[in-house]
Order: sequence, then structure tokens, then C-alpha cells
Amino acid sequence: MLKPEQLALPFPEIQTAPRTIIARVHRIFANQSMKMGDVEWIGFDMDHTIAMYDPSALDSLCIHSMIDRLRQQGFPHAPTNVDPSFCIRGLVIDKRLGHILKLDRYRVVRKGFHGLRELSPDQLAKTYEARRIRVGTPQFFGIDTLYARSEASLFAAWIQSLEQQRHSIDPSHLFDQIRTCADGLFRDGTIPRLITDDLRRFIRKDPQLASTFHKLRSGGKKLFLLTNSPWPFTHAVMDYLLGSEMPEYPTWRHYFDIVITSANKPQFFLERQPLIEQDGDSKRPVVLRASTSFERGKSYEGGNLSDFTRLLGVPGDRILYVGDHIYGDILRSKKEASWRTGLVLHELDDELRAHEASLPDIQRLQDLTSQREELEDELRVHQTLFKDQSRQLESVRATRDIAMTSAVEVQRQLEKRTVERVRGLLQSNESETRDIEARIEQRFHPTWGPLLKEGTELSSFGQQVEAYACVYTSRVSNLLFYSPIQHFRSPRDLMPHEF
Ligand SMILES: [Mg+2]
Repeated sequence: MLKPEQLALPFPEIQTAPRTIIARVHRIFANQSMKMGDVEWIGFDMDHTIAMYDPSALDSLCIHSMIDRLRQQGFPHAPTNVDPSFCIRGLVIDKRLGHILKLDRYRVVRKGFHGLRELSPDQLAKTYEARRIRVGTPQFFGIDTLYARSEASLFAAWIQSLEQQRHSIDPSHLFDQIRTCADGLFRDGTIPRLITDDLRRFIRKDPQLASTFHKLRSGGKKLFLLTNSPWPFTHAVMDYLLGSEMPEYPTWRHYFDIVITSANKPQFFLERQPLIEQDGDSKRPVVLRASTSFERGKSYEGGNLSDFTRLLGVPGDRILYVGDHIYGDILRSKKEASWRTGLVLHELDDELRAHEASLPDIQRLQDLTSQREELEDELRVHQTLFKDQSRQLESVRATRDIAMTSAVEVQRQLEKRTVERVRGLLQSNESETRDIEARIEQRFHPTWGPLLKEGTELSSFGQQVEAYACVYTSRVSNLLFYSPIQHFRSPRDLMPHEF
């Protein structure tokens, strides 16, 4: 058994990065204020958190593996061409109808596709009205991981292929088959084996990852790894990422005080799973006594929140957990454990780029919104005047005073023309607004627009990020740019009346 030694901390040679403005791609954004000085333990998920996958290589591997297996199982008419980037995270599958939907922060459907065909606003309104969609019911399945994104893209292409060939389908059955197939490919080790056979192809090495962990440790933090991946896969990936990065750390395990694999999140947060001590192929349940504690250098499997926090001996708000899965990592750890949470959003780089490119358009939209409000006020005033003139005209006509009638009619016509002019300006304002909004959406994603927003509101995914992630960022190594006692401050919340 490997017995890594606790490194003397802090390392005096580690310098805090010079105090400069941090580029937006390296920023950590705070939804809730968090003092890193209060955080004693920092835990990390592995897949898509520490380990950043090449999205196109992984999506393509998952999609081709699913098609091969479903074909072997006799599933007909597999699509020949699947665009793996068709779907984004945060979408919802309507299994019963075979639609893929994007919801706003109130869980109301705002965009939808059937196969690769866009559903019109009228079709969506007729099907869903304005009711809130309850994700997680038998009908609606949330695409909240990067793995599930490839399942959704395959589902859309398969529906399209079957319908083009005029085959009747049960979308719910098709989606369940894809889900079961995807789970099977991970559970039986097929996809993990293909990844470990070519780690360089599937996983992007982050040159600053080791220094980030080193800096956190030198700042007095204790680190743990809590991953759903099993030990052999975890070891292969972590060894590739950290195995020989810094001479102070003979193996990747030296970066972590506790390693838990096969954690089975979110059940880890919800059920009393037993904690297993794992050593090579041998496994034995940990008998928990008052004196039991985690042993540095040992690896564990399973476990549960209650035993875990008791063995750490710190309150939940002194633990920061960093993961990529909004439900399994972030929502559950926040709700069940009051842990501080950090969401890794690999899509954030693209979102920031699109946002930056859209700044002049966003400014123009704000101007158009102010202009629209002024025009609407102006329209209301002149409509009222026109109605007044119309009433006055009827009254003076009754008096048969031709001169007076003519004068009022002139005024009335003037008001009418003003109303028409303002209406015209409003129409061109709305048309320009629509064009700019479409242009902005295209910059984010050609089909679904921004990940975190829907129109001027948060998307349902954005709302979850805002509600459950204390902080969010694009990669773990962005922690390198901050002090281990950084105070992350959330922007002040403003209500509409305070603007
Ligand atoms: Mg993950």
C-alpha cells in the first residue's frame, strides 16, 4: 500500500499570482458570496471537472458506440449522420411526443424541435400552453450532463431518420433504449476502455492543473476527490493528468487527502451507502467507530454524506465541492449538505466569447428598449387625444357649426397621422429588435441560443446555476488566479423597482 506523506505546508516558494485584472476566461463568477478563507476542504468531481474532455471526440465516440450497439440489438433505421453539437445542456426531452425543448426560468417552453424540425411558437403554445414543465417525471427528461447531450442529439437524428422513412415510432421507447444503451456502455466498461486506450485523444491536459492543486494545498486547504467513476478508470485518467507533473508529488494521489471512487452520486447525498476501503482488487467495508477517520493514502469506494462529513469533522459550510453536474454534484450537495458549491461549465468560454462579440448589439437592444417605452407612452397620449377629438367632433357636428367642425376635424386628422407615425416607428423598433436578438442567439448556438439565458430571462438551466452554484467558472485551474483566502462577492440583487 502506498503511503504518501503529508507535505509540509505552506510551500514558501509558491507565490500568489501578481495582483492584476483577471481575464474574463479565467474569472470565477459568484452567485453567492463566499470567503475562501472559511473553506477548509475542497472536493472535486473528476469527469468533466478535473478531466476536461474534447467534446467532439467524446460525443462522436458515444454516438457511434450507441448506434453500433442499438443496431446489434436490432433497432432499425439508425441515422447515418448525427450532428453531436445539435443539443446543449439544460434542454428537456418530451419522451411522449419526441420533442426536445428549451425552457425559461419559470420552466415554460420557449423553443422546441421534433427531430431536426423546429416547432413553431403556435405549435408549442398549443401543446404546452404556458404551463410549467415538471422535469424528472416519466414524460420529461432533463439533459443536464455533457454525456446526455450526445444521447439527445442521437435521439433527434433518429426520430428524423425514422419519420423520413415513414416508420411509425414510439419516441418514449426509442429514448429509453438510447438511455439504457448509454448507461450499459459505461457500466460494462466499453466507453471507459476506449477512452483509456487513447487518453490523449479524449482528454485535454490542462498545464495549470497541478500548480492549482499545489497552490491550494500550500494555502492550507485539504483536498478530496469524490467521483462516480470506478477506481481503474479514475487511476488511469488521474495518472495521465497529474502522474508526473510536479516532482514534489510522486503520484497523483499525493495531491489528495481523500480519494473516493464509485461514489454513486446523487445517491451518495441521499442514501446510507456503505463506505468501502479499496486496495487494488481487495475491498472491505469500513467499520465506523468513534475513533475512525480517513487515512491519507488509502482509497475508498461508495460511502454517504452523513458518514463522510462526520469523518471529516467539519461543518458543511467549510467544504467547497466543485463539479460539473448541476443535479448530481451541485444541487444535491447544496440542498442535502449545505456545502459551498462550485460549478465547472466548460461551455463558459464560448458563452463569454459570444457575449463579448454581442456587446454592441446588447447596447443597441437597451437603446431600442428605452426608445420603445418612450414610443409606447407617446402612442398612448396621442391615441387618447385622437379619441377626445373624435368625441368632440361628434358634439360639434350636432351643433351644425361648419367652421368649428372643420377645425376639430383638422386637429383629429393631425392626431391620427401622429398615431400612425408612432405605430410605424414601433414596428420598425420591433423588427430591428427581432433581427438583433436573432443575431445574438446565433453567436451562442445556431439552434438554441445561449446556454444560461432564454431571451431576456435566465434559461431554466441558468436559473439552476444561479440558485445552486455559489460560484461558477470554466475550468478548475481558474482557482490558480485567486488567493486561497479570496472573498468572492456576488453582485447585489436588484428588484425592478430599484433600477
Ligand atoms: Mg462529472
